[in-house]
Amino acid sequence: MMTIPKKLEAFTCHGVEFESQAGDEYIGGCPFCYKERHLYVNGATGRYICHACDERGNVITFLTWHAKQVHEATATAVSIHFPET
Ligand SMILES: [Zn+2]
Repeated sequence: MMTIPKKLEAFTCHGVEFESQAGDEYIGGCPFCYKERHLYVNGATGRYICHACDERGNVITFLTWHAKQVHEATATAVSIHFPET
């Protein structure tokens, strides 16, 4: 089994699964476009790029994006259970 660097736990604990490794690059499914094996994350810097949808950033931009997804999903769930009307 691959050892995932501590720096990449922000990705793995939010659903990104790394399938292979090439040097410092960890390759897994892209959470932005859902393409498998297209997200390349650098284990030393935490920077990522998706070779399918060209989404790129670092640990902070990923966590910010993820928090926004959670926020929107929560808002949707609340509006279903507690409609304004
Ligand atoms: Zn992508």
